[in-house]
Amino acid sequence: MNIRKISVFAHELKVVNGPYVFSGGTLGALTTYLVKVEADNGLIGWGETCPLGPTYQPAHALGAEAGLREMAPKLLGTAALPRPAMALMDQSLDGHNYVKAAIDIALYDLLGKTTGQSVSTLLGGAIRPRIPSYYAISLMDPDPTAEIVREKQREGYIALQIKIGSGDVVKDAEVLRAAWDARAPGMALAADANRAMTTAETIQLSQLIRDLPIALEQPVRTMEEVVSLKGRLNHALYLDETTVDVATVLSAFGRDYCDGLGMKITRIGGLGNMAIVRDMAEARRAMISVDDSWGGNIIAAACVHMGATVRPNLFRGTWLAAPYIDHHYDPSGGIEIRNGWIDVPEGPGLGVTPDETLFGAPVLEV
Ligand SMILES: [Mg+2]
Repeated sequence: MNIRKISVFAHELKVVNGPYVFSGGTLGALTTYLVKVEADNGLIGWGETCPLGPTYQPAHALGAEAGLREMAPKLLGTAALPRPAMALMDQSLDGHNYVKAAIDIALYDLLGKTTGQSVSTLLGGAIRPRIPSYYAISLMDPDPTAEIVREKQREGYIALQIKIGSGDVVKDAEVLRAAWDARAPGMALAADANRAMTTAETIQLSQLIRDLPIALEQPVRTMEEVVSLKGRLNHALYLDETTVDVATVLSAFGRDYCDGLGMKITRIGGLGNMAIVRDMAEARRAMISVDDSWGGNIIAAACVHMGATVRPNLFRGTWLAAPYIDHHYDPSGGIEIRNGWIDVPEGPGLGVTPDETLFGAPVLEV
């Protein structure tokens, strides 16, 4: 089974009830790239990559399109299988994991359709039929934060992430204390600064909330800063934005710089690389989430299939952009969060069949 044709579509995802405000900017809409891979057996696989604007990480929309232009012609006529394709992509373009991820996801979808198996089965098998999502609470004052903690608990969420890094460590501590006091037993809390804090602020915050067992997610910007925090915190440390490739995750575990991960499937290069990270996390008994920075049904389905293969006791949940997006790609329904949980899609491949007419003419066809 070889690759016969690759089409790339650019599609605008408007932010519902937007704009979406985060430390990297204000977003009213994001361009996602859908990749359609056709094999010589007549079957089709879909992949997707959607960088969260140009300032969140080095990944950006124009880079996604350029990277696909670079690699797609070289893939034609080669094996329509994730591992040979990743080896070829690594040979033809250095880095740019977020671009390779779209092809990788499409090839898993295609392999699933060819074999009649779901992507979670190809990844070793779903441990459960539905997985928890976690809700991310934006930077706000203590009282409204506590209110949202109570509301999301009532809805059924079992994990919450609270954004911190306001620039005021005392306020961040007050917000986390309010969230902790509002939580019911069994609710896991993580505090995510998205790299906004200095090492000094992180140490101060850890002292201020010494009595609260809340994990700190990616407080600082660089791996050097992460390394300098070792032994100086009272809290578990999770890494997110600095885990840019599999080797970095291996190093972080090997040198014992973190207790868990916030993972994005596209940042790490797709489902194949994510499976390696999943298995390393399991061997290290580290907590892990399976998210993406943004994107529609294809990315969401990839996250849910992968998330279902993670051992429940190590799983932090899956964050999806679905609540911020006003449409499904699949007219029969798409991936949705219901009462804090997400059903693993059924059927072969990703279990989502996009209506191609939504995407217009391809921006690239080889
Ligand atoms: Mg994070």
